[in-house]
Amino acid sequence: MKLTFLGTGAAEGIPSPFCDCPTCEYARAHGGRNIRKRQSVLLNNDLLIDLGPDIFASCAQLSLSLCEVNQLLVTHSHSDHFEPTNLMLRAKAYRLSTELPEMTVVAGPSVWALWDASGGSDQQAGIKRRPILPNRAVQVGGYSVRSLEAAHHSSIGDAMNYVIDDGTATLLYASDSGLYSDETWQQLEGLQLDAVVLEGTIWSRPPGKEHLNEDDFRSMLERMREIGAVTERTVVIATHFSHQGSAPHEEQDERVRKLGGICAYDGLTVAF
Ligand SMILES: [Zn+2]
Ligand SMILES: [Zn+2]
Ligand SMILES: [Zn+2]
Repeated sequence: MKLTFLGTGAAEGIPSPFCDCPTCEYARAHGGRNIRKRQSVLLNNDLLIDLGPDIFASCAQLSLSLCEVNQLLVTHSHSDHFEPTNLMLRAKAYRLSTELPEMTVVAGPSVWALWDASGGSDQQAGIKRRPILPNRAVQVGGYSVRSLEAAHHSSIGDAMNYVIDDGTATLLYASDSGLYSDETWQQLEGLQLDAVVLEGTIWSRPPGKEHLNEDDFRSMLERMREIGAVTERTVVIATHFSHQGSAPHEEQDERVRKLGGICAYDGLTVAF
């Protein structure tokens, strides 16, 4: 299984256009891995997780096309994870010379409500709906996918994380996760993960209701180790950083490494 991080920032990205905090100013001055676009992750070449507002910039910068993607998993309806306009760009009018495969879109009710409100047409975008709720299982293409209830976006209630198995490896994609409920921990019992992508959104800030800080990140990992889901050979990757809670990339990477993980950056590819 191969992951390509198209974006690793939280809602505003880094640097936020409307912020002059030290992390944003450092990113403006130094560029490179300190710049974090809004989050999407490509799995192998055919499954995309989340379709945020920065897809164009990510793909242009990484010389990537998404023409082979025929599965899209959406975690939730926050604007950094689902931008309906980007789905509309699949319409024939925008790719006259290109044939695309039909794309199965796995997403919860609030994402579908957003898509419908935006005026999107399934037929024009060439998508097949696969509505899903937390704690369900679905097979899409060659992937077995289980949805977990995230402790995030609780006023809407259908934010999800995904356990994805491509037949060679098992990934837990946990962004945006919050601190899992006991019910979600039960869903993880018995799993052995090859990789975990876990949010570190508010790393250096006090605990929050929707996102993980450093202590929360550590405790989520510890509990995954306790139940045997994470072992020494599991690849742990922290992502989804807010400028208001994270340091410049190298410093952030050092902090994450102390907890046994690595810090994602835009363009990072990891195979496991
Ligand atoms: Zn987010
Ligand atoms: Zn800032
Ligand atoms: Zn969110």
